[in-house]
Amino acid sequence: MKKLFYIDYPQEHIEGQLHRYRCVHCKEETTVINGRLEGHLPNCEYRIKLENAGYESEATESHTSVTPHDADDFD
Ligand SMILES: [Zn+2]
Repeated sequence: MKKLFYIDYPQEHIEGQLHRYRCVHCKEETTVINGRLEGHLPNCEYRIKLENAGYESEATESHTSVTPHDADDFD
């Protein structure tokens, strides 16, 4: 299971920083997170919750290795 963007996490305003927000849980800036699950810290409550729910981060997406196929036919 995978979402395109992970932007439904609770955010809070960074004090003294206009137009800058961060994750309530791991305190990573929204510009750092950039809609990615792995943008949150590994111990982020939101990230852990989604990972436990079966959501994947980009990093673990491509497990499948493509086997090179020799298309040449013996005739
Ligand atoms: Zn977070």
